[in-house]
Amino acid sequence: MTLTDIQQRDAQDPLRPLRDLFDLPPGMIYLDGNSLGALPRAVPARMAEVLAREWGRDLIQSWNSAGWFDLPARVGDKIAPLIGARAGEVVATDTTSINLYKALSAALNLAAQDAPSRRTIVSERSNFPTDLYIAEALCRERGGTLKLVESHQIAASLGDDVAVLMLTHVNYRTGAMHDMAAVTRAAHAAGARVVWDLAHSAGAVPVDLHGADADFAVGCGYKYLNGGPGAPAFVWVHPRHVDRCWQPLAGWWGHAAPFAFTPDYQPAAGITRYQCGTQPIVSLSALDCALDVFAEAEKLGGMTALRAKSLALTDLFIESVEQLCPGAFTLVTPLEHAQRGSQVCLTPTEQLPAGSAYAIVQALIARGVVGDFRAGDAEQPDILRFGFTPLYLSYENVRLSAQTLREVLLNKEYELPEFNRKRAVT
Ligand SMILES: *Cc1c(COP(=O)(O)O)cnc(C)c1O
Repeated sequence: MTLTDIQQRDAQDPLRPLRDLFDLPPGMIYLDGNSLGALPRAVPARMAEVLAREWGRDLIQSWNSAGWFDLPARVGDKIAPLIGARAGEVVATDTTSINLYKALSAALNLAAQDAPSRRTIVSERSNFPTDLYIAEALCRERGGTLKLVESHQIAASLGDDVAVLMLTHVNYRTGAMHDMAAVTRAAHAAGARVVWDLAHSAGAVPVDLHGADADFAVGCGYKYLNGGPGAPAFVWVHPRHVDRCWQPLAGWWGHAAPFAFTPDYQPAAGITRYQCGTQPIVSLSALDCALDVFAEAEKLGGMTALRAKSLALTDLFIESVEQLCPGAFTLVTPLEHAQRGSQVCLTPTEQLPAGSAYAIVQALIARGVVGDFRAGDAEQPDILRFGFTPLYLSYENVRLSAQTLREVLLNKEYELPEFNRKRAVT
């Protein structure tokens, strides 16, 4: 594709107006919306209002007058249509790690009720570490077993000891995406329930939790939902399960009547019981405002249009890197559309010095193309990760990123010492 072709695609992009809803630094191409989403333009003014008026002037009354008390549910209702959940089924609260603890624990409680011999949690070895740590801690606490397998072993691992299959829908390091409906069907046929982590899916790829008949789901507010650093995460539980058991962090915000101040715990009906303590209203307000971008996207074709553009962007990046940096990288992300999330991961071949991915990413960042580095596994230890957010990226951005990558390689910028110093956050 020539530059003219690419510019034509941008001119015809139905989602082009969405880019103006974001405040991106001039000259930067931001390929890290899968790690920290960009700032929606409307958020700073909304934050100023929350601080100055709701907190500063109205103080304690704002729990009622500004609707602070219901905010986790209202934000949940904005997330619900993006993940195939219904109104009233999602709350935005706590972190992904904490919500996973609650959901996994509840899933184990359901198994304890109807199949007490099932005490194993199965997950993928390549899952995001916090998911594995939380599962490991729960198994220690409850005397269960955590079984880690490779992707192709999942179906075979679902024996009659398995209570829960815990998977991340789109893998953070490879961008590979599971077929949620097929995997859930296989787990149910084997007598297990499924907890899905949608951290790299919500707002990035269409998700249909009800269509897939999923059991539990959690996800992240600060990645593709653009809620800001450390934004509240979300949790969904299928209505057939939600009232069947407590979640373990039974704080007063999950009580049926928190302001009755009774000494005993009565869980609220539905997903409200998944709240624990007083909610982070300031960050919830940022996420609430950020989600309005998706209401605008809905008018232009919604998740279907976003998905089509995301695939076109990642296709173009893959093709451009092959063309402009021939033989330099192996593609880690699946080529097959049905198996690809909204990111592209590359690992350097032997054409490049071993361990050069980190420095290549740093050199790219210095040139205004922001991706990130992730330590891989034994097979592919060194990964360059690029997230493609269809809300604000153009086709020209993608082409320019591949050209910049080519220049970094041609100039061997990865050899410079300043790009080889590792910082705390990669
Ligand atoms: C980003 C991410 C998390 C983050 O969890 P926090 O509790 O917000 O730190 C969890 N799981 C997956 C799969 C992620 O990609």
